[in-house]
Amino acid sequence: MNARRLLSTVVLPLFVILASPIVVVLIWRTCVAYDGSLQAMLADFSVAKLWRAWPWPSRTALAVVGGFAAFEALLLVALPGRVMQGPVTPSGNRVTYKLNGVAAWAVTHLAFVVGAARGWFSPSVVYDHFGEIITTCSLFAVLFCGVLYFKGLHFPSTPDAGRIENPIFDYFWGTELHPRWRGFDFKQFANCRLGMMGWSLIVLSFAAKQRALDGRVAGSMVVAAALQLIYVARFFWTEHWYFSTLDVMHDRFGFYLCWGVTTWLPVVYTSQALYLVNHPLALGAAPAVLIVGAGLFGLYVTYAADRQRQRVRRSSGRCTVWGRPPEVIVAEYATRDGHTERSLLLASGWWGLARHFHYLGEITLAVAWTLPCGFTHFLPWFYPAFLAVLLVHRALRDDRRCREKYGRFWTEYCARVRYRIVPGLF
Ligand code: NDP
Repeated sequence: MNARRLLSTVVLPLFVILASPIVVVLIWRTCVAYDGSLQAMLADFSVAKLWRAWPWPSRTALAVVGGFAAFEALLLVALPGRVMQGPVTPSGNRVTYKLNGVAAWAVTHLAFVVGAARGWFSPSVVYDHFGEIITTCSLFAVLFCGVLYFKGLHFPSTPDAGRIENPIFDYFWGTELHPRWRGFDFKQFANCRLGMMGWSLIVLSFAAKQRALDGRVAGSMVVAAALQLIYVARFFWTEHWYFSTLDVMHDRFGFYLCWGVTTWLPVVYTSQALYLVNHPLALGAAPAVLIVGAGLFGLYVTYAADRQRQRVRRSSGRCTVWGRPPEVIVAEYATRDGHTERSLLLASGWWGLARHFHYLGEITLAVAWTLPCGFTHFLPWFYPAFLAVLLVHRALRDDRRCREKYGRFWTEYCARVRYRIVPGLF
């Protein structure tokens, strides 16, 4: 194995597996113990101190995480919903999904509000035990990824499974594309029902904590939380689109995705609201309106681009894009079982501006819900910075994936739409 391969398939995955669970705890501690200052946290850092302060799983944390996961699993199984077929996998397979995300979102939020109002639990319970909750999620995900690793090798649900590299890389990346059990899709459950649903409840709990501390929810928290809650609600409204994203179509369900959506997402994506609990900022009406406007515009771009692609493909190009017939490339590709399939690549509308113009919308929205945190500390800005890196990397990954899948058709699309994310720049 040459040095580059060793780095990418052993050293880096191992580093991420070992370091990430520590990073999320440090983010939380920086907020609650160092007033949001990374500089203060680093100046005071020692392994012994971190070990002493480590938030081990508590009974409350186990009850919160276990109760939430069980409740969401029950909703996914029990609530009625249309069944849809996912996209064709590289081995020519198609899995089905149950679409009851909107109902699950409504029941979950209703349960949170009613439960808190009746005193069954404190609405700030997540904030009050967040450290312990983080390590509980982390430990659970680390163990569960071990189960998934074993399952993918010995009891795969679909032919899109097996070893790729060494055990470390396979644990990191996953051994299965669509691990399921009796029709229960672990990816849908973890990504949508734990990660995305949890995001919404965590932000609500942080806002409730601020209300408990200050007697009111500051304008900055209202703006940041509202944008995030709308983003999550929109996700469930279009949950069926999620099954044609890279996460589902390409990324196997290993540590990267499973730990990412069950631990990284709940900590990093909610970090602005966590920061705002103890740093309420009085936001004037005009800045608030501008920020919300920018955020909603970003959200609209991602929604409109996703919708355009779905509509063009569903109607086989028999629709309009920005008032004109769509410009499409009919791309052929071969599945591993030897079949030739066809797909449409849209080369006009949002998809004609750049190959992932909607990533700009995503970043605009992230910046908008970070602005209410001000510029005193870098910590709340970590998320937009991370997202920018993630999306650039994702655009490069997607290019590679689509080039392998579509060959000359992708080359033709790239010749027509030259830039990846920012027209004229990248
Ligand atoms: P895309 O939505 O860009 O989907 C990429 C896939 O779309 C490609 O693999 C290809 O799949 C298909 N495709 C590519 N070009 C075209 C085209 N010209 N016409 C039609 N189809 C095309 O990427 P993501 O999966 O990364 O993003 C999905 C959503 O999730 C977006 O709204 C994004 O903003 C959001 N997101 C949010 C993140 C966050 O952390 N907040 C992170 C990443 C994404 P096929 O095989 O079907 O051809």
